[in-house]
Amino acid sequence: MRRLALAALLAVTSLSTIPFSMAWAGDLLIHGGPIHTGVDAAPTAQAVLIRDDKILFVGDLAAAKAKAAKDVRDIDLKGAAAYPGFVDAHAHLTGIGLRELTLNLDQVKSVAELVAAVKAYAAAHPEGAIYGRGWIETHWPEKRFPTKADLDAAAPGRIVVLGRSDGHASVASSAALAKAGITAATPAPAGGQILKGADGQPDGMLIDHAQSLVKDVIPPPSETLKREALRKAGQLYASRGWTGLGNMSVMADDLALLRDEAAKGAFHIRVDNYMDPSGAAEVLAKGPQTDATGLIRVRGIKLYMDGALGSRGAALLEPYSDAEGLGLQLTQRDQGLALMKKAKAVSAQVAMHAIGDRGNRMTLDWFEEALAGDTKARWRIEHAQIVADTDLPRFAKLGVIASMQPSHAIGDLYFAPARLGKDRLHEGYRWNDFLKAGVVVAAGSDAPVEVGDPRIEFYAAVYRHSLDGFANADWHLEEAVTRAEALKMLTLAPAYAAFREKELGTLEAGKKADLTAFDQDLMTIEPKAILTAQPVLTVVDGKVAFAR
Ligand SMILES: [Zn+2]
Ligand SMILES: [Zn+2]
Repeated sequence: MRRLALAALLAVTSLSTIPFSMAWAGDLLIHGGPIHTGVDAAPTAQAVLIRDDKILFVGDLAAAKAKAAKDVRDIDLKGAAAYPGFVDAHAHLTGIGLRELTLNLDQVKSVAELVAAVKAYAAAHPEGAIYGRGWIETHWPEKRFPTKADLDAAAPGRIVVLGRSDGHASVASSAALAKAGITAATPAPAGGQILKGADGQPDGMLIDHAQSLVKDVIPPPSETLKREALRKAGQLYASRGWTGLGNMSVMADDLALLRDEAAKGAFHIRVDNYMDPSGAAEVLAKGPQTDATGLIRVRGIKLYMDGALGSRGAALLEPYSDAEGLGLQLTQRDQGLALMKKAKAVSAQVAMHAIGDRGNRMTLDWFEEALAGDTKARWRIEHAQIVADTDLPRFAKLGVIASMQPSHAIGDLYFAPARLGKDRLHEGYRWNDFLKAGVVVAAGSDAPVEVGDPRIEFYAAVYRHSLDGFANADWHLEEAVTRAEALKMLTLAPAYAAFREKELGTLEAGKKADLTAFDQDLMTIEPKAILTAQPVLTVVDGKVAFAR
């Protein structure tokens, strides 16, 4: 009901189908539901008045009406709740769009469903190779990886390659293995594995670097497809309630396409880009940049210190509890420090992927050395998943931001106890410990590794249970945060993490008009209900980017 009422008020036709350039030119008056401002001193308001790209007034409805211009568009929330714009602090934009435009497997819940999805896609796309991604087998009833036999049954004779959601494995069909020349005799490349069946033949599963063997079997996305992916990802994110994101490990040509799409008026949410070292020449020479639309910014570089916990690539101080080894170090010290010093010289930010406690400690050590006493650079540790007690206060001391993914915790906590053992588990996903230590925690999804949905991140942050409501005794539920803290982690903190807290992150007069509304009040409803709240309105830079 609410949805219909809001849609009727917003538009003659559906506003979401009106080209963005035709957006309402007058004031926007938003009221009629709880409005959470994110401001501690005045956490709720009756109305928000928007003029052009800015918030003109936040407060009571009568005062807002008095200030409104004559051509004001009235948006009655009809009980829906509004918040500062939600920002995904860490995601991968091109990957999000490509996942939508190819075979998206992120909702598949069993091998049987995977086979059905491939079968349907193959029937709808009778020509060419089939590429998909997003599957993750950890909760599947069959309790096994998919194999080439599954894919051969679903799409006989076709080339099929399907990436695991975390990017650490793929499954390939017999035709794909044959095209790539992979046989029982093929040696696995360093850092990779070719899994074999009982018959000694490759079973289709390629782990980590072994995925490079099928790289040429699937043609790389064309420029046209990448442009479409960027537009699709922008629309999808707006429709989920995101007003912006931190875009990680960006290639130079993807940035050029994104700038171009935004300049053409085809892209409508904010993107702060952190460049892959291969595309970092511009930002390391000129420092942070903003395009003419103001939406697309380049903030710095993204590096990798270590791998992931699931595949035992995270760099740990003590050996894994369930296997030999201390994990991987992916950037060498001299190489990392050289890039950091270049970044420092032009006031660019460094965002370092660090998962393990050794990965995090090394990152803090290198940051400390490169920053040389500068505590205002806002360098970021991406994931900051497992952090030793003694390193926790160093984040605040160095002014380093913890950029964390609540959804990773509720997926990883199934296997993290095995990898880390009981005594180290308190080091993991310690959102509350960080907040108590005065550290800025910016939350994000890491999509397409995860779905990329603000509801899931908010739910995981406040409840720390799996999506079906499960939590084990050893999941350290005391690390769940309050609703007010979760809201900050998804609004003000990502703004701060990209040097935008003066103009974004809260609903306050004078700030840029970015706002998100859901049909339910995330601040009060039962945790489970957070997951089914519907996004109803997304405003970016004073323009309606999505409404239903
Ligand atoms: Zn990462
Ligand atoms: Zn990532």
